[in-house]
Amino acid sequence: MTDISHLPQPLRHNWEWQFSASCRDSDPQIFFHPPGERDPDHQARDQAAKQICLRCPVRDPCLRFALEAREPYGVWGGMTERERRARANPRARSVHHALPAPVEDSAVLLSVAEHG
Ligand code: SF4
Repeated sequence: MTDISHLPQPLRHNWEWQFSASCRDSDPQIFFHPPGERDPDHQARDQAAKQICLRCPVRDPCLRFALEAREPYGVWGGMTERERRARANPRARSVHHALPAPVEDSAVLLSVAEHG
């Protein structure tokens, strides 16, 4: 049986931020790579998604959600799945992809990443 106890509770305020998302009308394929995608297409797509995230007014709650839910795929809050895994697992910090600039609520995000 799948353990979903780590997922955020389904409260309305947990999801309202999505109404203000800059990616609402974007092609989801910008944020989620197709099977087997390789560089340089993979990096170009990730960078295009991150550019949208940089201007997004709900980047903090989006990234917080992705970290709390351990979202395994896609760019969320300006971070790729590989970057989120590296943030959540200090032993994986040797990843050679640069992490994005800190977000306003970085203390909360670091707390989530370190304590799950
Ligand atoms: S931060 Fe990025 S992925 Fe998250 S809601 Fe905004 S545009 Fe979408």
